[in-house]
Amino acid sequence: MRYITCRYDNQEQVGIELETGVCLPGLSNDSAAKDWPADMLQLIDRGPSFWADLIEWLPSLTDCVVPSTSVDYLAPIIRPRKNIICLGLNYKDHAEEAFKASGKSVKEQQHPVVFTKSVTSVNGPFGNIELDDRITSELDWEVELGVVIGVGGKHIAEENAYEHVFGYTVLNDVSARDVQFRHRQYFLGKSLDGACPMGPVIVAQQSLPDVHDLTISCSVNGETKQSNNTSNQTFNIAQTISILSGIMTLEPGDIIATGTPSGVGYARKPPEFLQVGDLLKSEIEKIGAIENKIVAAVQ
Ligand code: MG
Repeated sequence: MRYITCRYDNQEQVGIELETGVCLPGLSNDSAAKDWPADMLQLIDRGPSFWADLIEWLPSLTDCVVPSTSVDYLAPIIRPRKNIICLGLNYKDHAEEAFKASGKSVKEQQHPVVFTKSVTSVNGPFGNIELDDRITSELDWEVELGVVIGVGGKHIAEENAYEHVFGYTVLNDVSARDVQFRHRQYFLGKSLDGACPMGPVIVAQQSLPDVHDLTISCSVNGETKQSNNTSNQTFNIAQTISILSGIMTLEPGDIIATGTPSGVGYARKPPEFLQVGDLLKSEIEKIGAIENKIVAAVQ
């Protein structure tokens, strides 16, 4: 199951991506589709039995399948209820490049580095990212696997962690390095407006059992900058959910960005940063790709 949020005929819809097009049950006259949720958070709130039932009745809906070219893909969750929870340094090779870039000796991660991105950073999968030169001259890329929580909980055991996952998406933890390092805390440098493009879909957890064996990559203007595999995460998804929920309650709709692999701009020699006109592509095997153009901010 590949869930999407999109705009069709000037209306926001939550739907399902099919091989033949996009199913938008909100447009259907079928009785099975009445009370179809208005947005992704409402769909997630319906819970696992609703998601499972969809598999049964969705194929019978034929009056609401539209061509995928007729919809504009939006961020799957346009306005999360809480900040996006982010892991830092969660791929060993990225941790090494980050320590080296800051002149520190490489340390093994005993505990995950955790910070958040503002909800106002959320951007669509094909939305423009504004570069405001009053704020930053060091805008950088970080492709990441996003985990969307479906069932909340506290003190979730690793062996039960996947029962709490709704699905997976692609996101880029776009980062203003000068802001990030200047303020001694990640939050501001990670929270520029539009600095969290995500999508194009949320792939249901049950549809992606090999989530820790997926190619993850990022390119700028067609040149590969990051290429890795989700098997190389230091703290895997089950460990991450267990650690986070051991401290704070996780809730339906929470988004966890699981860290980026090596190849970010600021650790390159010489450092590279995004410029106006660049096309940033972030891709994860079996989920899809998002593409975001860097544009000058209107001042
Ligand atoms: Mg990151």
